[in-house]
Amino acid sequence: MTRKGGPRPKHVPMRTCVACRVTQPKRQLIRVVRTLAGPVEVDLTGKKNGRGAYLCPNRACWGRALKSNILDIALRTTLTADDRARLAAFAETLGEAAAPAAPAGA
Ligand SMILES: [Zn+2]
Repeated sequence: MTRKGGPRPKHVPMRTCVACRVTQPKRQLIRVVRTLAGPVEVDLTGKKNGRGAYLCPNRACWGRALKSNILDIALRTTLTADDRARLAAFAETLGEAAAPAAPAGA
C-alpha cells in the first residue's frame, strides 16, 4: 500500500450538537463519551474509546441535554445520577450561550 504524497484537500470533520442540532467543526464541539468501562465522561481530547456525542461549548446546550434524555439516546445508555452530576459540574465551567446579547437600545 502506498500513499500519494502532496497536498491533500483540507478536510474539516463536522459534528452535530445533540442538543441544538447545529453542525460545527468537530474541534469546536465538546465530546461526551460513554467509555468502555461504563461511565459517561467529558472527553476533551476527543480520543477516548467509546460511543461519543457532541455538544456546543455553552451551558444552554448542556443544560438542555441534561434536562432531557438526549444524551441517553445519543450514547445508547442510561445516564446515572453520577454521570449527570459530573456533566453538570463540567457545564458549570462553560460560558453562557454564545451571542453576547447587547441590550438593544438607541
Ligand atoms: Zn448546541
